[in-house]
Amino acid sequence: PGPLRFQGERVEWLQPSTLEQLLVLKEQHPQAKVVVGNTEVGIEVKFKNMLYPVILAPAFIPELQEIQHTPQGIVFGAACSLTCVGEELKRAVATSPAHQTQVFQAVLEQLRWFAGLQIRNVAALGGNIMTASPISDLNPVLQATGCTLTLASTAGLHQVQMDRFFLGYRRTAVQPHEILLSVLIPYSTKWQFVSAFKQSPRREDDISIVTTAMNVTFMPGTSVVKELKLSYGGMGPTTVLAETTASKLVGRLWGEELLEVACQSLARR
Ligand code: FAD
Repeated sequence: PGPLRFQGERVEWLQPSTLEQLLVLKEQHPQAKVVVGNTEVGIEVKFKNMLYPVILAPAFIPELQEIQHTPQGIVFGAACSLTCVGEELKRAVATSPAHQTQVFQAVLEQLRWFAGLQIRNVAALGGNIMTASPISDLNPVLQATGCTLTLASTAGLHQVQMDRFFLGYRRTAVQPHEILLSVLIPYSTKWQFVSAFKQSPRREDDISIVTTAMNVTFMPGTSVVKELKLSYGGMGPTTVLAETTASKLVGRLWGEELLEVACQSLARR
């Protein structure tokens, strides 16, 4: 069957049932808005007077709801709700060795403070990434930990690392004829530690002032920094990696002195 179609006075709503249909529709209507939970688009339409004449609703396409376990990590279809992502990550944390689930635990920490249950039940992981909000609570974790995004179009699939994804204020590497298909959240390795933080005026159900995620790997058996990625939200037009600071900390011992160098370097930027 073809896509389900509703035509209103100002808006055409198309609900394809296969990935192929969705990609063909996105090619035919590159400006069409892909809508899953509508928690972002709904606000834009209701409060910012935005009009999106063509809406594509992909929530029931199996590939966008799929959860796959791979040797690298867990791949979530872009339309998986945040509740569903959280439940799968909790299962993995309960059944895997702790050193493998550092990234999962950091995502779970951010989800704990992400909106309320009603929003998390409908809002999608892909919707948060694609909104490209500089104060997204999840994007710093996904960026600092090297999550991989798979984009799809009628031409095929290609992958983009999160650290190359945000091009400007609410601008991403996704082309108008493409959609975000899935997100790989990787396993961590031994000697790797990940933490994420959200600072907002209110503790619960509030917009962040600043968010951050820190991903450090030590030289085996030591406290010498081997690799480090620091990602911040709320500090500029996009979620950003503090690359200069991170490069100054590699090779140093983890301790007060490193903290001092990190704070001074971050303050200078
Ligand atoms: P939608 O509104 O359906 O879509 C959002 C954007 O993503 C649109 O531009 C859409 O075209 C695009 N998109 C969605 N899926 C795809 C896809 N597969 N391919 C291409 N483009 C796609 N955000 C936070 O970070 N932290 C919070 O604490 C938080 N709290 C909130 C509280 C409230 C009350 C509300 C209304 C919003 C909140 N948000 C928060 C923002 C929002 O809920 C999230 O960004 C959410 O994850 C968006 O998902 P969605 O499925 O609702 O997106």
